[in-house]
Amino acid sequence: AAHAAKSELTGPGATSDGHAVKLLANVGSAKNVPAADEAHAEGVGLFRTELLFLDRTAEPARDEQVTAYREVFRGMAGRRVVIRTLDAGADKPLPFLNQDGEPNPALGVRGLRVARQRPEVLTTQLAAIAAAAADTGADVWVMAPMVSTLTEAAGFAAAVHEAGLPRAGVMIEVPAAALRARDLLGVVDFLSIGTNDLSQYTFAADRMCGDLADLLDPWQPALLQLIAICGEAGRESGKPVGVCGEAAADPALAPVLAGLGIGSLSMSPRAIPAVRASLARYTYDECRRLAELAVAAPDAASARKIVG
Ligand code: PEP
Ligand code: MG
Repeated sequence: AAHAAKSELTGPGATSDGHAVKLLANVGSAKNVPAADEAHAEGVGLFRTELLFLDRTAEPARDEQVTAYREVFRGMAGRRVVIRTLDAGADKPLPFLNQDGEPNPALGVRGLRVARQRPEVLTTQLAAIAAAAADTGADVWVMAPMVSTLTEAAGFAAAVHEAGLPRAGVMIEVPAAALRARDLLGVVDFLSIGTNDLSQYTFAADRMCGDLADLLDPWQPALLQLIAICGEAGRESGKPVGVCGEAAADPALAPVLAGLGIGSLSMSPRAIPAVRASLARYTYDECRRLAELAVAAPDAASARKIVG
């Protein structure tokens, strides 16, 4: 019993009957790696690379990128690191991209869309990631933010493979992408659902707008339904589908996400212990039942009550 109690505190994420749900950390730089270790994260599910690009009038040089990425990969030797290519625009404007003229930045040239105008920013970053990954022992996966179509996903996967990186994925942040999850998994190796943006674009509610918090609630059944489409596509294809938005940090939602077919939850390191403990309180069958009920609920408050 003492052993079981300890693994509930530090072991890999799993339901009470052993269905694995990887518990991963969101990081912005190597500074966050100690916190991830302290929480016994099984790897990094979202390495946000924007930090290096913020407040720059010019793109950071390839070598500078290599150094920053390598530090994180080294710290995660033997573990998975999902690194996200630059997510500029909207709530993360970058001076060197000169995006000031957009009337609706959240609906503008952001995330992967920047590569339409500045393809060299993406190819340089992918080359830097490939160089940084070499000989670090980390299992490096690369994903793109703000993908809407199969064409975009296929183009990104080709660029990732061209750079010599074996694992390409896309984030699901736009309803159009969630609806086509099965097709996307035909051209990429994994999906990671960014619930912050997926909520924003599903409910047409600015993620920065506190007055609309009820619409941005991760328990909204419409959001859960889109997650269910992705989870089902993951089950069918056998390819990993994770969640890396704020929703992944909600302990009560963890069994629901597991039941929807989500295989990894990536969150701020400090949220990991409570999510681990919550998952361990349910069997996988119970998770599936809760998931079914939550998607069928009439509203977010009712969905929440189902888990209690
Ligand atoms: C998200 O949108 O849920 C996400 C994880 O990405 P970010 O919060 O960096 O936009
Ligand atoms: Mg996002």
